[in-house]
Amino acid sequence: MHAYQAFINGDWVDAASGARFESEDPFTAKVWATLPRCGEEDVDRAVKAARAALERGPWAEMHPTARGALLRKFGDLIARDADQLALAEVRDNGKLWAEMRGQCGYLPQWFYYFGGLADKVEGAVLPIDKPDMFTYTRHEPVGVVAAITPWNSPLLLLTWKLAPALAAGCTLVIKPSEFTSASTLELMKLVKEAGFPPGVINVVTGFGPDCGAALTNHPGVDKIAFTGGEASGRMIAKGAADTFKRLTLELGGKSAQVIFEDANLENAVKGVVSGIFAATGQTCIAGSRVIIHESLHDAFVAQFTAMAKQARMGDPLDPDTQVGPVTTRPQFARILDCIGIAKSGGAKLVMGGTRATRPECGDGWFIEPTVFTHVTNEMEIAQTEVFGPVLSIITFRTEEDAWAMANDTPYGLAAGVWTQDQARMFRAAKKLRAGMIWTNCYRTVSYMSPFGGFKNSGQGRESGQAAIHEYLETKAVWMDYGAGPANPFVLR
Ligand code: NAD
Repeated sequence: MHAYQAFINGDWVDAASGARFESEDPFTAKVWATLPRCGEEDVDRAVKAARAALERGPWAEMHPTARGALLRKFGDLIARDADQLALAEVRDNGKLWAEMRGQCGYLPQWFYYFGGLADKVEGAVLPIDKPDMFTYTRHEPVGVVAAITPWNSPLLLLTWKLAPALAAGCTLVIKPSEFTSASTLELMKLVKEAGFPPGVINVVTGFGPDCGAALTNHPGVDKIAFTGGEASGRMIAKGAADTFKRLTLELGGKSAQVIFEDANLENAVKGVVSGIFAATGQTCIAGSRVIIHESLHDAFVAQFTAMAKQARMGDPLDPDTQVGPVTTRPQFARILDCIGIAKSGGAKLVMGGTRATRPECGDGWFIEPTVFTHVTNEMEIAQTEVFGPVLSIITFRTEEDAWAMANDTPYGLAAGVWTQDQARMFRAAKKLRAGMIWTNCYRTVSYMSPFGGFKNSGQGRESGQAAIHEYLETKAVWMDYGAGPANPFVLR
């Protein structure tokens, strides 16, 4: 049993109340770690530490070039300990070892990339239209950042916030999901080893309504970077309005995979498998709606179910496992509810639809890869985010219908398009209202490419050069070197 502590002002600490909570391993369905249940008092300490580090001391004084070097050093440590970090996430989250090894090996790239950007944030001298006036802009850190992360990909989604925020010179208080806080705390060991000054990065662990809300509502927080569900995002945005905190929100999705009659079917099948069964469908970018030309429907369903039926389920630590458990008990129950909703809404179940009882799944929270056909875009199963291995297949006749259906949900996170017609690929990029458009590929991300959603999928972008500006304020500086105002009563 691991007993973790929170990380405040460079120290490992328990909650002021002494309260703790448990984290379960989704494969064994048994408690494997306990964590401090932080509340208002702990959050207040962490925010005060972050504010102090922002305003004075070595971090506040550090030249951006040195900050960049520190980020790169941190990246090197993550590369060194990638396997250990991966292991913590497999244990806590049930993510596959096969996926996490690659993912943790890739995380350092964000710190190298944003470390490189730290000293390339340039203000501008403005060719201003006023005589004898020198005007320039400077960019400054937005301040103390509350980084709130979900359970489905704790380290990756934290990295997307941490790297640009640090590069910009901000300080952070992180609140990981109550279901999966372990890997974030493992990462803090490396924060200490890298030599970040105390208070620059803090972690409080606990539940959304008390610990999370205490953080997002704290007057000492300047910006909230949130990834999670739509309902929590809406609540946080309303709270943030009281003090006009800056906000980036990465929320849910109901992304479409649009397959045209000229698609390479074999590749489309693989792309859809990866979009809905990788990570057990628990990704915000899950391609959970296939919108397919009616002429290709039967061949697609036959090939797709043949491949999906061969998926190996079981121990996420086994490098050959392809579909792991659902991460949390409530999510397990929700997926089964959604399957019920699809059935009662008239969709036809052609595969899965139940808890997986294969011997290799043990007591874990496994759901059989599930496929529904005869779905229409109006059905609840086509509109609601399941966040599990459940695919809905919808047919279309004309290209215009395909775009309209793909766009017809409250979300706009990602879309996949499968076609060999180049002109149509460009039309897709224009017609689809989503933050990421993948053409003849799916579920690829990079530190170089912006990530984020339209509509209810959120606001702001993570990764890519522009992401650093989500953590900066712009200041305009005016210097009069002339005789001063001729008439002080009018706008100059
Ligand atoms: P969630 O909204 O329940 O929780 C996310 C985080 O917010 C957790 O740390 C939680 O403790 C905290 N939280 C909850 N209520 C809060 C409140 N009132 N104030 C402050 N903090 C609060 O989401 P989840 O179930 O952990 O994650 C799944 C959701 O995340 C899905 O909807 C998924 O689509 C979304 N997601 C989005 C992206 C993206 O980049 N767009 C990526 C991954 C996951």
